[in-house]
Amino acid sequence: MPHEATEVLSSLNELSEDERLFRNAVLEFAERRVRPLVRQMDEDAKMPHDLVEELFGLGVMGVEIPESFGGSAARFFHSVLAVEALSRVDPSVGLLVDVQNTLVVNALIKWGSDEVKRRFLPALASRTVGAYALSEAGSGSDAFALATRAAAVGDDFVLTGRKLWITNANEADLFIVFANANPEAGYRGITAFLVERGFAGFSVGKKEDKLGIRASSTCELLLDECRVPRANVLGEVGKGYKVAIETLNEGRIGIGAQMIGLTRGALDHAVHYVRERKQFGKPIADFQAVQFQLARAAVDLEAARLLVYNAARLRDAGQPFLKEAAMCKLFASEAAERVTSLAVNLFGGYGFVKDYPVEKLFRDQKVGQIYEGTSNMQLGTIAKAILS
Ligand SMILES: Cc1cc2nc3c(=O)[nH]c(=O)nc-3n(C[C@H](O)[C@H](O)[C@H](O)COP(=O)(O)OP(=O)(O)OC[C@H]3O[C@@H](n4cnc5c(N)ncnc54)[C@H](O)[C@@H]3O)c2cc1C
Repeated sequence: MPHEATEVLSSLNELSEDERLFRNAVLEFAERRVRPLVRQMDEDAKMPHDLVEELFGLGVMGVEIPESFGGSAARFFHSVLAVEALSRVDPSVGLLVDVQNTLVVNALIKWGSDEVKRRFLPALASRTVGAYALSEAGSGSDAFALATRAAAVGDDFVLTGRKLWITNANEADLFIVFANANPEAGYRGITAFLVERGFAGFSVGKKEDKLGIRASSTCELLLDECRVPRANVLGEVGKGYKVAIETLNEGRIGIGAQMIGLTRGALDHAVHYVRERKQFGKPIADFQAVQFQLARAAVDLEAARLLVYNAARLRDAGQPFLKEAAMCKLFASEAAERVTSLAVNLFGGYGFVKDYPVEKLFRDQKVGQIYEGTSNMQLGTIAKAILS
């Protein structure tokens, strides 16, 4: 039966004009401003304050914040492009931007009252780094078993507890802190609070000494009878579990973006190196075994990118994306492990030392299978979706 010619859909990889310009601007910044700092930031386990300020100037810290609040008024997909482009050069810088956009700004846009948006979004777009504090020593995968408590006292809540593993904690001035305001109600007591750095009883504790993404700060947060005004509740009291579930579903796509960025970075280094390095009288790129390994890595990257872009585009289109987000993070983080490991192998002994860039990317990728839900948690989500 003849079919009417309809619109031909292009590749998921195809970017619109504005997406391409945005991505190119971020890539140019990453090469010019981030690349020269990568090694030092890794050694110092610190990101220079100036660099963070420049990220605000670049317009990547408030990607979805409306223009009326000083943001870039773009889409979630643009956040993904920014995280991918920065992570190609340094996944720690990619992560700072990722948490800011896909978790913090995202949660405020979705759950914040007009008053909360008016108070916090202009600062998040122009100067304030945000952090997202759910995990604790005793609750990681089982996030809703969190032990931090929020007691209502007059017009305030008093928060007591400790958060662990909090990304951006050193740079942040605003923290979304999850605490239980009604433990008898179980997870239905969990509430999201906007904790500002200067609040009495709040402090940033020990900084972790990590395997990878060392320039990204990961710290403990201490809440010692920290008074938080009721006006700083994000969303409704007892609805924090929804804030957490929904933002993390989207955050996972951002981690997928971080992973495809660093995978691309590792593959670029490997392709360049195998053309230069000579053994047995010719470039190692001439050996078919090496060519096939690189071909497999290119397929891994392409598949991971399609999964990430698909999940992000579904999210922007208002379509369900829970399973796709879990799939993209699972696959992209495993692909990153395979490709960075290959890059180290192809560099030979030079892959094992810090003078060359691939050992760092190999270290940086590992966390992709751990944070924002371990690979087992993603598999659980996917299995539930296909079996229900
Ligand atoms: C560098 C870094 C940055 C982070 N940033 C943040 C942040 O900004 N904010 C934040 O809130 N948290 C953050 N985290 C915490 C992170 O989200 C948790 O580490 C993660 O959710 C895993 O929790 P866990 O470490 O307690 O591991 P656990 O939950 O103890 O898991 C240990 C192992 O058991 C497996 N496992 C657990 N339960 C099950 C199950 N039911 N079925 C099968 N397997 C299971 C896991 O897959 C894993 O392999 C960060 C962590 C790191 C390392």
